[in-house]
Amino acid sequence: MQVKGRDKRVHMPSKPRMIVTRGLPGALMERIATQFDAWVNPEDRTLSAEELQRAVAAHRPEVMLVMAMDRIDAACIAALPDAVQVLATLSVGHDHIDLAAARDRGIAVIHTPDILSDAVSEIAILLMLCAARRAQEGERMIYDRTWAGWSPTQLLGRDVTGARLGVLGMGRIGRTIARRAAAAFDMPVHYHNRSRLAPEIEAGAQYHPTAEGLLAESDFLVLAAPSTPATRGFLNAERLALLPPGAIVVNIARGDLVDDDALIAALRSGHVAAAGLDVFNGEPEIHPGYRDLPNVFLQPHQGSSTIGTRVRMGQMLLESVATHLAGGTLPNRLV
Ligand code: NAP
Repeated sequence: MQVKGRDKRVHMPSKPRMIVTRGLPGALMERIATQFDAWVNPEDRTLSAEELQRAVAAHRPEVMLVMAMDRIDAACIAALPDAVQVLATLSVGHDHIDLAAARDRGIAVIHTPDILSDAVSEIAILLMLCAARRAQEGERMIYDRTWAGWSPTQLLGRDVTGARLGVLGMGRIGRTIARRAAAAFDMPVHYHNRSRLAPEIEAGAQYHPTAEGLLAESDFLVLAAPSTPATRGFLNAERLALLPPGAIVVNIARGDLVDDDALIAALRSGHVAAAGLDVFNGEPEIHPGYRDLPNVFLQPHQGSSTIGTRVRMGQMLLESVATHLAGGTLPNRLV
């Protein structure tokens, strides 16, 4: 891809400088320490905008390794020193980075596609199962010591096997979820993307040209589309009403695809039987209404959080950066 702005690669006699906005698993920290003159956020929390700018101004890095929780907006990018060549995000989602602003400053942005699709699809399946089989309520009975013993009417959930799976966003992750759900649970797969996939990629899934058509066929609706101006607020009251009564909603994409008030109302009424959510509006805060509901299964943004996946994500970024600094073409480049 042709990138606007000047190519900032220059000969660097010493180790290239990097800032890393969060501490990473040990294997990555060792590699970073060997290959870079790195400043790593010593605290296990997201830096404020001011702290990030202070760190960047003090260290003047060629490479910034950032996380999905860092807000790299136009103001942040405008304030970066000219030294910055690459923004590497430890995520596939890039809604936290103003790509146009980065392009205009000639800063390359790279991410971690594909490598996390297996881990995220595992969490999606976990959420589907736990929501459908009332895992939160079951676990509470154990820990609250309220379980009086087996009962033929206890916590009756919903069959997963054979139910229709609707995927909004049949991309790398959506397809991995669909493949698993079809193989493990005989789920017929329906999907909506803006563009239909080729038949060999579709693999028997039924395409719906409209999101509304997809909703009507989704016993389980999994949100796997990126957060964009077009998808923000997607699952609102009108669209929830199109789901079959007793549907299950799973979100592994981004919290802002969901109108929380509308979903909570649908969960209270029973129109949506249960929800499994890994991502939330305003993380780490979550809408207080979710905490009062028995029919939700909530995870704290765990999609890619396995040790193997996180290390592979980091290695992928470090290898891409090394290629770039050696004069090669930067892989997995967004701009
Ligand atoms: P991807 O391969 O780019 O897939 C995104 C899919 O969404 C594409 O099929 C795309 O198809 C579709 N899409 C985009 N805009 C759409 C719209 N307006 N309406 C309907 N479909 C739309 O991305 P991915 O690697 O699968 O990742 C998907 C998202 O998962 C990421 O953006 C990220 O936010 C989220 N994620 C979450 C976690 C977690 O920890 N929970 C981890 C990783 C990723 P068309 O272009 O044809 O519309």
